[in-house]
Amino acid sequence: MSTSFNQILISRSALCHNYRLLSERVGKTAHLLAMVKADAYGHGMIQTAGVLNNAGCRHFGVAEVGEGVQLRESGVEGAIFVFLGFDPLDVSLFFEYDLIPVIYDLESARVLSLEAVKRDTVIEVHVKVDCGMTRLGIFPEAFGVFSSALQQLPGITLTGIASHFPRSDEADSDHTSKQFLRFEKLFAIAGHADTLIKHIANSGGVLYFPHTSCDMARAGISLYGYYPDGMIGSAAENGEQLQPVMSFVTRVLQVKTVPAGVGISYGHTYVTSRETRLAVLPVGYEDGLSRSLSNKGEVLVHGERAKVRGRICMNLCMVDVSHIEGVQAGDEVIILGRQGKDTISGDEIAGWMDSISYEVLCLFGNNNERKYIE
Ligand SMILES: *Cc1c(COP(=O)(O)O)cnc(C)c1O
Repeated sequence: MSTSFNQILISRSALCHNYRLLSERVGKTAHLLAMVKADAYGHGMIQTAGVLNNAGCRHFGVAEVGEGVQLRESGVEGAIFVFLGFDPLDVSLFFEYDLIPVIYDLESARVLSLEAVKRDTVIEVHVKVDCGMTRLGIFPEAFGVFSSALQQLPGITLTGIASHFPRSDEADSDHTSKQFLRFEKLFAIAGHADTLIKHIANSGGVLYFPHTSCDMARAGISLYGYYPDGMIGSAAENGEQLQPVMSFVTRVLQVKTVPAGVGISYGHTYVTSRETRLAVLPVGYEDGLSRSLSNKGEVLVHGERAKVRGRICMNLCMVDVSHIEGVQAGDEVIILGRQGKDTISGDEIAGWMDSISYEVLCLFGNNNERKYIE
């Protein structure tokens, strides 16, 4: 039962299509890890992982340990990687829920080692190396000392080495290949490199630098149907395309006609220049429709574009339907997705917001009811 006018529709078949397409890209020798952090970029972590699990996915990535616990409790099968580290007080969760920590300091390694010894078991860890992102991870120069120190600790075994690309969405930059060389140099230092799971590629890596997939590639945005460089990527892509998984559907609450010279919404930042028919929609910044889209955003009504007029409120906004015949209360409105012959994509909305599709998906998906469809 729906209890909101606003609904996020999640297409299981689009998700499976993207998973298959990306799995083919990384090839048979590499795993495709599904990044399901941020509630699967707004698509719902548990449901998304469930669908992917059924499609054959056995590797999942989350940011924090609490997400890993939730995911495991949902019954997902396979490896769950926790990428941001953990508070020492939570160390037991990795053992109880069979989660793999990605670590970047020896302190965490010691805490894990102590807990493993206490439980008379061995925990596997991956180490995060910062090869040029300048975010989380040890520097490559520190890797030798780090991995020897790990070997001295009982109850802990290094099974993987990870890094991350900052610019793999730039398909014609040589930055990614250079960074990959820096990553590859670490394999010799690790000693047992052939048994280590090596992973650095994100969606940009998988799509534009396939030689960087190694043993595992971590796909986020592409699984959800978007190219990391936006529409440019989609247009440049030959062959089968990714399919957007999310759409955002709402309805018209009220239609009203006002004469020229009337101010709309808070602050009257839009004043009509002629008689104008407006549709009032039950969508505001509380629902993820950023206030920065005031007087900028567009939606689809009867398959045609209607522009946002005036400021977007917390739960409401107004769009101009003067040029669209017969709009009535209750009519379907598309904020994100397809209606008739037209489509509004996450990239287009992101463009109006000066942001990226990632943020649009998180905002819409995590602030509205989701419904899963075929
Ligand atoms: C989010 C994330 C990814 C996925 O990135 P996309 O660009 O969405 O494919 C991969 N690796 C790490 C460490 C991440 O945090």
